[in-house]
Amino acid sequence: MDTSRFIARHVAGLPKSGIRDFFEIVAKMDDVISLGIGEPDFDTPWHIREAAIYALEKGRTHYTSNLGLIELRRAISRYVEKNFGISYRPEDEILVTVGVSEALDIAFRALVNPGDKVMFHQPCYVSYHPSITLTHGVAVPVPTYARENFALTVAALAAAWQPGCKLLVLNLPCNPTGGTCSRAQLEAIAKFCIEKDLLVVSDEIYSELTYEGQHVSVAGLPGMKERTIFLHGFSKAFAMTGWRIGYACGPAALIDAMVKVHQYSMMCASIISQEAAIEALTHGEEAMKEMREQYHRRRDYIVRRFNEIGLKCHLPHGSFYAFPSVAASGLGEKDFAVGLLQAERVAMVPGSAFGANGAGFVRACFATSYEQLIEATTRIERYVQSLASRSKR
Ligand code: PMP
Repeated sequence: MDTSRFIARHVAGLPKSGIRDFFEIVAKMDDVISLGIGEPDFDTPWHIREAAIYALEKGRTHYTSNLGLIELRRAISRYVEKNFGISYRPEDEILVTVGVSEALDIAFRALVNPGDKVMFHQPCYVSYHPSITLTHGVAVPVPTYARENFALTVAALAAAWQPGCKLLVLNLPCNPTGGTCSRAQLEAIAKFCIEKDLLVVSDEIYSELTYEGQHVSVAGLPGMKERTIFLHGFSKAFAMTGWRIGYACGPAALIDAMVKVHQYSMMCASIISQEAAIEALTHGEEAMKEMREQYHRRRDYIVRRFNEIGLKCHLPHGSFYAFPSVAASGLGEKDFAVGLLQAERVAMVPGSAFGANGAGFVRACFATSYEQLIEATTRIERYVQSLASRSKR
């Protein structure tokens, strides 16, 4: 029987994530150095794990409020006020979610009517476009460029804008480019959003991993708190990907709408993860800073090596990704990545997995040990040299 006819049309039409496909192949190979999947190589700091163990010992095994534990919402409120300068009420302006993934999904489901247009800068995180399609929204990508360090400019935003645009998704620092915006750039974007009456969904999951200057949150700019849903989580800065925990902060009416979707789908985030998250926010800063220092050192190394090898690489101002151009190799990003994997067993993600605008680039996640990065870049250098000598022959 052809069971595929039961699948909803808009789901059947969705592409599978380019990253997962590629890493299915990688998983079957030995001795591969993976600069692929975007997650910290560090295990969650021990005191955070201990808090979860202790919670279990105490019998903290039940549902929580749909919004999340009030103690966690208070800790989030303090953390966001201290680090981002924005104050949210724990009672009705903060929702604890199953990672930023769920927060993005329920934000779109709560806000997008069929046909509403949603803007986002591209190259971008793989889930944005499909999540918008799943809500029957229309995706409107806005290009960012290597020559501008992949910052989003108001000029590009204005050029892509069209009637019917309702939301703008921002991801700064950006996965996969590491791009950020200066305060002045962000102020211009904020002004544009007010003029065009755009609501902003701001995915700031990499904000602690900012290496140049100070992270600025769009929600903290004049007139923006009331038109921004601020999304953040624990996966990256606190090395907590497996705990599946994040949060959304925003105007009470919008958070309330998101709670409706959340309560019928997730009910609440895992209580064990919520207990661990309280510990991360209250005592995790030191461990987080140590991890950031390691990423910073690795970033400087890998970017220098890519440029030495001839793969032109801008300096990512944040995140744990480098996004070098493979143009000098004479290959497209897919052939380059597949060839490198076969010849030298190093895995990087073809940039086109992050949208058409990522063509000609590859993403290298440097959340792996310094020693591995030395070995990986040695192998990449050998591969690039072999391509060059092949083309001379
Ligand atoms: N947003 C971005 C930009 C990401 O890179 C990721 C994870 N790769 C997520 C959201 C999802 O994070 P979480 O683990 O909190 O669901």
